[in-house]
Formats: sequence, C-alpha cells, structure tokens
Amino acid sequence: MSIEIPKNHPRYWSLVIREKLVHGFREGIVVPQGLIAHGRGEAFDYIIGEKTIEPALKAIEAAVAKLLLAKYPVISVNGNFAVLCGEDIVKLAEELNARIEVNLFYRTREREEKIAQYLKQLGVSEVLGVGDDAQCVIPELFSERRRVSCRGIYIADVVLLALEDGDRTEALRKMGKFVIAIDINPFSRTAQMANITIVDNVVRAIPKMIEKAKELKSRSKEELQKIVENYDNRRTLGEVISYIRSRLDELAKKGVFIELPK
Ligand code: ATP
Ligand code: MG
Repeated sequence: MSIEIPKNHPRYWSLVIREKLVHGFREGIVVPQGLIAHGRGEAFDYIIGEKTIEPALKAIEAAVAKLLLAKYPVISVNGNFAVLCGEDIVKLAEELNARIEVNLFYRTREREEKIAQYLKQLGVSEVLGVGDDAQCVIPELFSERRRVSCRGIYIADVVLLALEDGDRTEALRKMGKFVIAIDINPFSRTAQMANITIVDNVVRAIPKMIEKAKELKSRSKEELQKIVENYDNRRTLGEVISYIRSRLDELAKKGVFIELPK
C-alpha cells in the first residue's frame, strides 16, 4: 500500500480497491489499460448504486447452475480479475471443480507467469495458459490475443470470464463456447455477447457465486437444468437497464441526495 487510507473515509472500500490495483500495476500484474477499465467499472457502479441488484442475483443463480452442469468449466483470469478477487477465484474453482486459465488481452510471458504465481501462492495447484501451455488459437483473433490453453479454454464447454474485451467474447461465442461474463457495464459488447451476463462488480459477484455454488451443489441435474432453461439473458439485461432508469428517475427527482453539511 502506498498511502494510508483513513477507515472513516466515506469511500474507504473504493480507495482500498484502487490501491490494490495500483499495487498490482507496480508488480507487473495489471496493465495501464486495466486501470482505465477499472475507472469505467467504477462509473457504472455509481449508477447501479454499488450493490448487487436483483437481475444480477438471477444471473448468478443461472450461471452457477450452468457451471455445475458443465463437463469442462474454465475460469478465465486476467490481471484485474486476479488482483481484485484472487482468493475467491481459487475458492470458486474448488466449489465448481473448474480449471483456472490465465488469459490476457495484453499477453506477455512475464505477466502470465506473475499472475500464475500469484494464484498458486493462494492455493491453486495448476494454472493453465502460461507460456508453452497456451498453444491453441481462438480463430478470428489476431496476434497474442488469440492464444489459449489446449487443455483449458480451447476444450471448455463453459467459460466464466470477467472484465473481458467484447471482441474476444464474441470470438469465444463463435467457437461454440457457453460464455458467462461478469461485467458491470450492461452496454459493453461483452455484456451483450455473453450467454449469461452478471451485471455486477466482480468483488461482490464472486463471493455470491461461491455461496450459490454451495447451495446448488446438492440439487439434482434436472433442477439445475430447469434453472438454466428458465433464464433469459436478453430479458435480464433489459431488467438491468430498467433498474438503472428507475433509479436515475428517482435520484433526478431529489437532485441532491447526499446529506450535505449545513
Ligand atoms: P467491450 O470491449 O466489451 O465493448 P470495453 O472496451 O469498454 O468493453 P474492456 O476494457 O474491453 O471494456 O473490458 C472491461 C469491462 O469490464 C468494461 O465493460 C468495464 O466496465 C468492466 N469492469 C471494470 N471494472 C469492473 C469490475 N470491478 N467488475 C465488473 N466489471 C468491471
Ligand atoms: Mg473492449
């Protein structure tokens, strides 16, 4: 930590998270573009009210049901995701019996290794997608962005990703993957392209997914299938946008809604 954040600061957690990312950046885990992406995410978090909203809870339930039904689920991890949720990613992978793969938009061997090392130190025995392990390619993408593990995303039936670029999400869909995305911007290409979109901050969504996985684990295959079948991503994204609209309407009526000193 580079600065001491006062515990009584009204936006304490937001500042702690920013510091985590800056630290991750200095360690070579997060790229500068990741810091910019985080800023975009924070803006949307203000708009939804910095809490997990009802449509996101629905998406979380369907996502976990799908992941429990999956034959070969893979969690795709980039720099921001690792720094923000490292420990919980490890726990979720255990609950779901999923593989973890480092999958970077700005791929360098050094960063792959740093992220893998970071996750291993949190308790994962194997991290895919590092160095020579990432030999398979996602068709339609160019350069280093298209490399994935032949034992991971390449053969996965269900991929869970977060803070992912829209172009790559689209390419994964074209490969026939079932894509579950955590993206706080319901208008991003990733949010629009995914099969299931959890519109929430990853720091809130992943712990809720762990709880949901514990709860749904004992359910029958048929029950899980029913949850997935009854889920409609288009409808849920619509509900997110309606939620935002009503919230903004309410706030618009009030104008100033934060208590100001007299
Ligand atoms: P797209 O490529 O999907 O159209 P983009 O170019 O704006 O979107 P990327 O940088 O490619 O965005 O991906 C990052 C996405 O992650 C953005 O939609 C951003 O709002 C979102 N995001 C940033 N921080 C968080 C967070 N903490 N939790 C969830 N989503 C986040
Ligand atoms: Mg993008």
